[in-house]
Amino acid sequence: MSKNIVIIGGGIVGLSSAYFLQKEGHQVTVIDKSDISSGASFVNAGYLTPSHIIPMASPGKITQGIKWMFNSSSPFYMKPRWDTDFFKWSWYFHKSSTNAKVEKAIPVIKDINILSRDLFEGIKASGDLGDFQLERKGLLMLYQTQKSYDHEMEVAEKASFLGLEVRELNQSQLAEMEPNIAIDAKGAIHYECDGHTTPTEFMPKMLQYLKNAGVTIKTNEEVLDVVIKANKINEVRTSKQVYSPDEIVLAAGSWSGQLSKKLNIKLPLQAGKGYRINVSRPTGISMPAVLMESSIAVTPMNGFTRFAGTMEFSGINTYIRKERVAAIAAGAKKFYTELEITNEEIADAKTGMRPVSPDGLPYIGKSKDVENLTFATGHAMMGWSLGPATGKLIAEIIDDTKTSMNIVAFNPQRKF
Ligand SMILES: Cc1cc2nc3c(=O)[nH]c(=O)nc-3n(C[C@H](O)[C@H](O)[C@H](O)COP(=O)(O)OP(=O)(O)OC[C@H]3O[C@@H](n4cnc5c(N)ncnc54)[C@H](O)[C@@H]3O)c2cc1C
Repeated sequence: MSKNIVIIGGGIVGLSSAYFLQKEGHQVTVIDKSDISSGASFVNAGYLTPSHIIPMASPGKITQGIKWMFNSSSPFYMKPRWDTDFFKWSWYFHKSSTNAKVEKAIPVIKDINILSRDLFEGIKASGDLGDFQLERKGLLMLYQTQKSYDHEMEVAEKASFLGLEVRELNQSQLAEMEPNIAIDAKGAIHYECDGHTTPTEFMPKMLQYLKNAGVTIKTNEEVLDVVIKANKINEVRTSKQVYSPDEIVLAAGSWSGQLSKKLNIKLPLQAGKGYRINVSRPTGISMPAVLMESSIAVTPMNGFTRFAGTMEFSGINTYIRKERVAAIAAGAKKFYTELEITNEEIADAKTGMRPVSPDGLPYIGKSKDVENLTFATGHAMMGWSLGPATGKLIAEIIDDTKTSMNIVAFNPQRKF
């Protein structure tokens, strides 16, 4: 039966949900307070990452975070501040950072990543969006120290065990693979299972497809409030009008925690800010790479090379800390020694906020308190990769059909 569905948020998660819901014959409206041209879904590194099997909340992260806490140019930064939501979130993060919980999360993360990668390929094959960059060259984890090598080999072994394609490259194999730029690295772990895309190409194409397919897209319209009657959302009130849909999907990225409060639902979520620098000149870089010691993601996108990085917990804001952007350029040069990122390119840096749950797993599923509310958020560092899988799962949840994978781990009201 066709339903009238409002999706709050037009990032990759909201648009992917609209894509699969529309295919099932629903009347879909996406509401976004922006013009859908900026933020996390536009600045990200475009990786499709079956290789990122270790959730962000893992042993050692808190210690590392505290060490870096007062260094505003470090790759992982928590701004010291008095914020009870942040304290609670940090406590849940700490509780989630155990070996047992990480081991439990690994296969789930792998499954949803593979599902999503296949769906990206399905979208491409369908021709719905026309042509767009979707490459499967894999991802190089470039390392300069033994410590990083040892760390990554542990991950690589787990990934191999799960059936992901991984191999080691020595310096000469690396030079052969990336012949047009000098790389200062001891070697690389090559996750052949990964893919990459250009978000600033995919997002407008998806938006256009949805409009043509009959999805209503409302931009520059902010959801301000919701009215609940008899355990159901009766009204969604925006800056422009009031909606009374059958179903609501909350896909508001880093803002989803604030909106949940209006529903009296606790959704522990923090914004993890990151930045990107685009270099539109030829760089010689042809392989996506993570520069391990610098914690920087490098992606050869359609028409430019992107350098992305940092995870900054400083609340919801789009303030660009220049020292952190400069650290991305400096960190890139440590590996690509001949690369010069210009001051203009640095000055043109953009930012976006990852919606980060305390255990690194997304929130995908029905609310237990509000009948017609479904959550689709909290994807942290994997939100781009997991957009299509989330959209597909959301359509299955709303249609009450068997989901493509077990989604128990994504319960939006799970206990931490
Ligand atoms: C630097 C960087 C690099 C990254 N690299 C990768 C990567 O390589 N691979 C990967 O998988 N992930 C990556 N990510 C993470 C990924 O980009 C995010 O997880 C993902 O984009 C989140 O998508 P979203 O749709 O949930 O949220 P968003 O893209 O933030 O969209 C949420 C939307 O909701 C709207 N909204 C919020 N509140 C309201 C309201 N009240 N009313 C109406 N609209 C509202 C906002 O305007 C926004 O457009 C990266 C992120 C960053 C910052």
